[in-house]
Amino acid sequence: MSRTLVWFRSDLRVRDNPALFHSAAKNEVVAVYCLCPDQWLEHNDSPNKLWFWMQNLNQLEQSLNKLGIPLVIIQPDRFENCAKQLLELAQNLKCDGISYNNEHGLNEEHRDLCVEQLFRKKNLECQRFTDQTLITPGQLLNGKGEYFKVFTPFRKALYRTIEPHQIQPLPVPEKQKSVLLPEVEKVDYKDLFSPAEAISQRWPAGEEEAGDRLKAFIELHAIDYKKLRDYPAIDATSTLSPYLVSGVISLRQCFYAALQANNGELDSGNDGLQCWMSELIWREFYKHILHGFPRLSKGQAFITETERLPWSQNNKTFNAWCNGETGFPLVDAAMKQLVNTGWMHNRLRMVTAMFLTKNLMIDWRLGEAFFMQHLIDGDLSANNGGWQWSASTGTDAAPYFRMFNPVSQSEKFDASGQFIRQWLPQLKEQGNKEIHAPWQYDIHDIDYPTPIIDHKLSREKVLSAFKALKQP
Ligand code: FAD
Repeated sequence: MSRTLVWFRSDLRVRDNPALFHSAAKNEVVAVYCLCPDQWLEHNDSPNKLWFWMQNLNQLEQSLNKLGIPLVIIQPDRFENCAKQLLELAQNLKCDGISYNNEHGLNEEHRDLCVEQLFRKKNLECQRFTDQTLITPGQLLNGKGEYFKVFTPFRKALYRTIEPHQIQPLPVPEKQKSVLLPEVEKVDYKDLFSPAEAISQRWPAGEEEAGDRLKAFIELHAIDYKKLRDYPAIDATSTLSPYLVSGVISLRQCFYAALQANNGELDSGNDGLQCWMSELIWREFYKHILHGFPRLSKGQAFITETERLPWSQNNKTFNAWCNGETGFPLVDAAMKQLVNTGWMHNRLRMVTAMFLTKNLMIDWRLGEAFFMQHLIDGDLSANNGGWQWSASTGTDAAPYFRMFNPVSQSEKFDASGQFIRQWLPQLKEQGNKEIHAPWQYDIHDIDYPTPIIDHKLSREKVLSAFKALKQP
């Protein structure tokens, strides 16, 4: 019987895993994972995220062992050397080929191509699968044969293309006879990172946990998702993002569950379920964009002319933003949530990103990096997409004059101040009106900063900077 090396990356699961399932259906399987610290550095991956991934890798190892599949961990000295070391391993273990699920991003795509070419050169098989998206990036184009640059037409085209009944998660492969491998060095990866206790409790690892979260969300919250998803004090969203980013659960599994609950309908039926599926498509959209516009992986703006914006170099205001000390309670509470939990509510990601880029006029790349350094769900495509959207430098760009007012956002989405009180205990005693903008009231003796900018003035400044871009 032939033997295949299945290379796990951001697909840390045994259910609905195309590379694993299709390889195990034909051949005996050995699994491999590459620990690549220079890739983590390149992406600014947070210790929270790395800890989460190592716990999930450990869970994966246990699940694979139950299926009779050994997991080998290798540590290439450099990211570029993955191909060479995988080939050496495949040859040592007498594998006839390798298979893996595609990842997106310039470095990842280049690395994967190198692996494919090297294996083929040695007459070994290389099989690659689409996994992170419903449609392979590059295969959904507009009438001019170009990538969609705006979300809504992209979603509509995708809904016209996919058949709901074809979205079927794959089962766990059957147990194979245990494979006896030559002695390989054991790598202790599980305790490489240690997060704060609050983080480890909040984000248990494993496919079971991800499946339970999905089930609970669909049964209890999905119906009200459209109505409640913007209120940060309410648990109305799925909190599946870290599991989706690490591939502990797949986009197909999430989509399938939503479709089942919505009687197989994509754009009719329950509006909560439709809205949630549409959010999942944002994830898909940004993967296509990352693939189609390699400059994004190099840290460049999607709208090239915005490279001329005169970003502020003010470290003091940047640090105030990072530390949650801007004097705008909703912004500060959100930044505390990020640093303390490794996660931030979507509405607040937009509020804080717009505040940094529009009010403080600080380069979106600094905010993007700071988010990555803390997020447990840090993901190049979604994070870059979200930051560039907020800064009006990206796809689907919010027109540059659309700018959130942090006080009205607070009054609208945290009217009773419940979220702010949770993260800024010094404002606990403030009334529901005062809590959104304490400086506007005659309040003394609170240990809370006065605002670091004037919203109106900063708005005028950013608008004229964007207008100047239009001038020849
Ligand atoms: P739900 O509301 O339950 O949505 C379900 C899933 O849909 C999410 O888990 C996510 O995979 C996907 N999704 C939802 N909204 C978006 C979106 N706007 N863009 C892309 N995918 C989306 N998401 C990340 O996964 N990683 C990031 O690094 C990331 N950085 C962001 C930075 C900024 C500035 C902004 C504005 C958004 C960012 N997002 C990111 C998108 C979004 O905020 C999170 O996916 C969402 O808050 C995760 O919570 P949830 O799982 O409860 O989402």
